[in-house]
Amino acid sequence: MVDMETIVSLCKRRGFIFQSSEIYGGLGSTWDYGPLGVELKRNVKEAWWNTVVRQRGDMVGLDAAILMHPRVWEASGHVAGFADPMVDCRKCKQRFRADHLESLEKCPECGGDLTEARMFNLMFKTFMGPVEDEAAIVYLRPETAQGIFVNFENVRETMRKKLPFGIAQIGKAFRNEITPGNFTFRTREFEQMEIEFFVKPGEDEEWHQRWIQDRLEWYRQYGIQPEKLRLREHACDELAHYAKACTDIEYEFPFGWSELEGIANRTDFDLRQHAEYSGRDLTYFDDQTQERYFPYVIEPSAGADRATLAFLIDAYHEEQVRNEKRVVLRFHKALAPIKAAVMPLKRNEPRIVAIAKELADNLRKCMSAMYDDTGSIGRLYRRQDEIGTVWCLTVDFQSLEDQTVTVRDRDTMEQIRLPIAEVPARLKEQLDNAC
Ligand code: ATP
Repeated sequence: MVDMETIVSLCKRRGFIFQSSEIYGGLGSTWDYGPLGVELKRNVKEAWWNTVVRQRGDMVGLDAAILMHPRVWEASGHVAGFADPMVDCRKCKQRFRADHLESLEKCPECGGDLTEARMFNLMFKTFMGPVEDEAAIVYLRPETAQGIFVNFENVRETMRKKLPFGIAQIGKAFRNEITPGNFTFRTREFEQMEIEFFVKPGEDEEWHQRWIQDRLEWYRQYGIQPEKLRLREHACDELAHYAKACTDIEYEFPFGWSELEGIANRTDFDLRQHAEYSGRDLTYFDDQTQERYFPYVIEPSAGADRATLAFLIDAYHEEQVRNEKRVVLRFHKALAPIKAAVMPLKRNEPRIVAIAKELADNLRKCMSAMYDDTGSIGRLYRRQDEIGTVWCLTVDFQSLEDQTVTVRDRDTMEQIRLPIAEVPARLKEQLDNAC
């Protein structure tokens, strides 16, 4: 399996992910997505949105603000309980999450004594407006979910939704993690892709199982190797305060099996709490049974950054081609940051260059495409393989005579000739079929 060092270095070298504020020495565990990274992450979010919102009749979307009324976080339990146990080493002063340590006897780094564990609230605090006092405190949301709960009535009413239905949202969340790390796996600022799916109480367990299977299938559909995915059910003592049950989808990262997404049964906890704290009626009237009740909620909660990292790691392949090492990112076509690269066989032959540039422009109208003449064809192939470009198109002397180009497939390395005029439509068709 590829190691993290190789992935981190490829990400930097090829413009996927950079250290944030690098010219100032970097800011701990914060990362910026470069030109290829932003395309990849957008494709991941788009694939998720298409699957869970656009292709379903029982889901709608939302984009709520990051800053919310501070009472939201009292109602949700985050002010009182969103905390992790923290210990400090008395000798080397490092901090650890107590529940991540094998033993609380000695520091895992230097063997020094550890302090007693104390609870540390993970919410970032800031002030709204010019006065920095208690009354002005607001939080950066630690999860996007609450933006959905507080809009439950708005969405239900305006969209005339009946149970079961769900609301999906993609957005930034912030947690002052005690021990961030493993590249973009655990950071203090990250993006979540969350669904709150509202169901009739009593139907929650069945819907929970359905969502677990649907979400697992999504990662497989977009190319993650099935043997690298597994489900892990939470034990009773690990469950969050709001959850009746939770199953994680885990991926085998180079640093071990770790959570990609959690699918929780949140019961009616959140709607009940918000009804109590806001004084608004958040019950649902079931016109079939003529009853009023608080819907139960199934929450598939994924991280856009963790998913992107898993797709990157899983796509990474090294192989021996003749005497050379070939590095190739075998992304699913829909996720690949660049779909097609057009290259001229000779960059100082104006007629070839003109055709190649025109073809790249035509491709750009329907997919992410680039023109590349920065090396020999062999070198360009290697560079494009390393970023997972699906097709390399070469314009050569034959193109001048018969208006065809070679199309090389990243995965099979097969080369075929296609009429230039047909290329955009033919590749677009393949992309559409792959989604
Ligand atoms: P962990 O146990 O890893 O701290 P969690 O169980 O607290 O995660 P959830 O609250 O279930 O995480 O959040 C849902 C999803 O949001 C996670 O599955 C993950 O993909 C993403 N996520 C949570 N915390 C972070 C983080 N610090 N950095 C990146 N992604 C995160």
